[in-house]
Amino acid sequence: MVREQIASRGITDTPVLAAMRKVPRHMFVEEALRSQAYEDHPLPIGYGQTISQPFIVALMTSVLNVQPGMRVLEIGTGSGYQAAILAEMGAEVYSVERIQSLYSAALTRLNKLRYFNVHLKLDDGTMGWPEEAPFQRIMVTAGGPDVPPPLLEQLDESGILIIPVGARQRSQELIRFVKKEGKIMKANLGSVMFVDLVGTHGW
Ligand code: SAH
Repeated sequence: MVREQIASRGITDTPVLAAMRKVPRHMFVEEALRSQAYEDHPLPIGYGQTISQPFIVALMTSVLNVQPGMRVLEIGTGSGYQAAILAEMGAEVYSVERIQSLYSAALTRLNKLRYFNVHLKLDDGTMGWPEEAPFQRIMVTAGGPDVPPPLLEQLDESGILIIPVGARQRSQELIRFVKKEGKIMKANLGSVMFVDLVGTHGW
């Protein structure tokens, strides 16, 4: 998976590749789909949601430039796989999911795999996690019509936020925001396709 789908497409970031090698992706999908867990596409995780394609996980993680000890907020826990990758890289991960069953399954899985540096919350992640803010990194793994203002507010100075944004559902541009001296800089990293970000500042 790492050599053929990720390194060959130009992601050379050693800590990202090491984490992608280490986290057992098959533990994050239903038993019937385990044999497909390492294939080059997203997979269903129930409730109309998906675990992202390995390459997209690696790309978003590498854009965030995560260093050990950083406080990272993820919106859209889903299976918990992306949270585990960030945890494996030594981040203190705060992840929010809005669907109760996905939240519970991810909690069980991450505990079983002993990722104790992941903190989960069942809530509308478009509001962020104000009690734990600010965050040095924020990653949204669902696509919304625009970036939720609370997330930009909860981003620390010199922080990086990455989110799929699109005026139409299921078709977005991956946008990276960087906060420098209080100002927000924006870059478009290309087209992606994510499930809906649903909530106060989402669909
Ligand atoms: N990062 C996940 C994949 C995410 S799929 C993984 O590694 O498996 C997107 C997830 O975002 C879904 O589980 C969906 O329920 C969740 N989601 C959508 N809107 C949300 C919101 N407002 N707050 C929290 N989670 C949300």
